[in-house]
Amino acid sequence: MDRAPLTDGSSRDPNCDFSYDLDLDRAVLLIRRSAAKRVGLQAPEGLKRAMPAMAKEIAYQTGAEVIISGDPCYGACDVDLKLCEEVDLLFHLGHAELGDCPEKVIFLEVMMREDLREAVEKAASLLRSKRVGITTTIQHVHKIGQALEVLKGHGIEGVLGPAGARAKYPGQVLGCCYCTAKALDVDEYLFIGTGQFHPLGIALATGKRVVTADPVMGEVSEIDTDPMLRRRFKAISRAMDAKRFAVLVSKKPGQRRLELARQILKLGEAGGKEMFLVYLDNIEPDRLLNLGAEAAVSTACPRVALDDEAKYRIPMLTPPEFEVLVGVRPWAEYGFDEID
Ligand code: SF4
Repeated sequence: MDRAPLTDGSSRDPNCDFSYDLDLDRAVLLIRRSAAKRVGLQAPEGLKRAMPAMAKEIAYQTGAEVIISGDPCYGACDVDLKLCEEVDLLFHLGHAELGDCPEKVIFLEVMMREDLREAVEKAASLLRSKRVGITTTIQHVHKIGQALEVLKGHGIEGVLGPAGARAKYPGQVLGCCYCTAKALDVDEYLFIGTGQFHPLGIALATGKRVVTADPVMGEVSEIDTDPMLRRRFKAISRAMDAKRFAVLVSKKPGQRRLELARQILKLGEAGGKEMFLVYLDNIEPDRLLNLGAEAAVSTACPRVALDDEAKYRIPMLTPPEFEVLVGVRPWAEYGFDEID
């Protein structure tokens, strides 16, 4: 190759010019230190585009063979253990470490470069309290100080809940874990990040008002849980007449809840339903077609039932929703599915 290494900044590969920072230097250092000969790269869909250039650069700088995981990757719960068997080091990008993993799995967090100040400035006018819980996702957690500073200028105290079981940083939330938000005694939350799933989760897990500030689009909004609750009520109602239920158990290490699935199975059988356990990696509609289930309960990532429901022909419920269906939980106590 005839160009200087990407890490010196003098001839940055244009294919690596993204709106986030990939810690290539750390990857190279760890490969050199461990004298790894084979290296795996795993990233979520949003980062996959950067993987070929990163693989090329790692090979250039270290001489190691690099293999990219081509399977979908949904979170830190979803480490490619098969690829891990083939390599000396596996770099899992874009998520913070979660639970037990083989030692050769290295989590490389990816930080968005977006400044949070403008979006938080806009959101400040929507906030009603003088003390607000601040939440965000891993990509923005390193800039959360900017949000606290802006709010202070408006006379608002921003507070962060402590890191917890699945959240590595104070204030961080995951689609399956809102422990940092729930630990706070506040009447209102500000969520900084993209998409509606996390702020909906905060609102449903805490029962409190949530304002969102999207630093990428520069948009702010207030979360309304009614449309989602209506959709979920409809899904439970559709599943009421079903007799055969598949209880889905994920093979992904950080989503595997076999014990919970067994409890759901017993609960369904006690309620006169025909229940069976299904163990699978990626939960997709075609995997369920030939099983003859009339409805399913997913014990995997909560997003399977709550975010992807439109993909499935049969109703797909979370475990707390199934409890509503069999009558052991009142609808008024609807619970957002979280993984401990
Ligand atoms: S279970 Fe779902 S929400 Fe939780 S970390 Fe995995 S992909 Fe993300």
